[in-house]
Formats: sequence, structure tokens, C-alpha cells
Amino acid sequence: MRDVHVIQHPLVQHKLTLMRRKDASTNSFRRLLNELAMLMAYEVTRDMPLHEVEIETPLETMTGYAIDGKKLVLVSILRAGTGILDGMLSVVPGARVGHIGLYRDHDTLEAVEYYFKMPQEMSERDVIVVDPMLATGNSAVAAVQRIKALNPRSIKFVCLLTCPEGLKAFHDAHPEVPVFTAVVDRQLNADGYILPGLGDAGDRIFGTK
Ligand code: URA
Repeated sequence: MRDVHVIQHPLVQHKLTLMRRKDASTNSFRRLLNELAMLMAYEVTRDMPLHEVEIETPLETMTGYAIDGKKLVLVSILRAGTGILDGMLSVVPGARVGHIGLYRDHDTLEAVEYYFKMPQEMSERDVIVVDPMLATGNSAVAAVQRIKALNPRSIKFVCLLTCPEGLKAFHDAHPEVPVFTAVVDRQLNADGYILPGLGDAGDRIFGTK
């Protein structure tokens, strides 16, 4: 059984439907993606380890719990990953950030790397890789492959939309990496776009079309 978590919270599903509409403006698309990323961060960080901290309330000393945000790395697959990264950082502001630049070759749909920058001491960190669309899976597979070479403690992958073809390609290459998504759409088309999907996530986030 593949490790796929579909986040079916009503707020996630509602906002996703608003984003999919072709008449959603760049402004509202970006804002909704930001809000969705915050909600998804809540789910994907559910099992983050806590440590005890002693604090003073106005009345007495108590033991509370804290997350070590510094151990967490959010890795954004450029450029569309930025849309999810910003929302996640607003709820986990202590996280470190890595970037991996990959573009899809228009003819082969293969991922070509042009940038790779990660924080230090990756072997002590938990990694969450973010990209709104897990479509052919080529970029996600390549990104996780590069990150695995740095031997992090754990890796999770977060997207907004995926499809059966993308999930299969991803888990054929990385069966142990859980995928968190808001939906598994019907299929991939011949151009590598998800149907019904939401179009080109990068263009919609940045208003480049
Ligand atoms: N990338 C996108 O932005 N949209 C898709 O549907 C597939 C890949």
C-alpha cells in the first residue's frame, strides 16, 4: 500500500475548488495557495517530535512542550514550490529552507537541474519537499534523489494536486517517502498536465501567462 495522505479537511477542499477556477485572479490564487499551505503544514507536521521546556506563567513554573523548528528543512522545488513554501514558513518560522531548481524539458518532460542549495548538517534534519503539482513525477523523483544523497533523518513530499501516474512514478522510485496531497485527480494528459487540474501552477502563482 502506497503511503499517500489525502487531506480531506473541508477548508482544504473548499479553497482548492476556488483555486481551480480559471477565472481566479493571480492575487486570489496566490492567497488561497498560501492559506492551503498553512493548513497542509498542520497535517504534515502532526508527528514532529516535541521536547519539554520549563517556563514561568504569571502564576507558577510549569513544563510545556516545544518543537525544534531548526531541525526541519522545507525544500522548495523552483519555481512553483515557492507558493507552498511561504505559507508553510508562516506556521513553522524556525524551519531552514533549501531550494532545488528543476525545469521540465518541453520535449522529453524530463527534469533538468539548474540550482541546488541546502542548509548544512542535513543528516540531522527532517525534510519536507514542496511542489504544488506531482504530475509526471520526474521533478519530484529527481529532487528526492538529490536530497537522499545528503542522508537526512526523514523525507516527506507535499503537493496540492497529484494523479495516479505521478504517484506511481514517485513511489516506484521512492516507496518509503510519504506523499501529502489535497487531492488525487483523474489523469495526466499527453503534455504532462493534470486533469482536471488547475493549469500551470507557476504561471498562475506568478501571473506569467
Ligand atoms: N505542472 C503544472 O503546473 N500543472 C500541471 O498540471 C502539471 C505540472
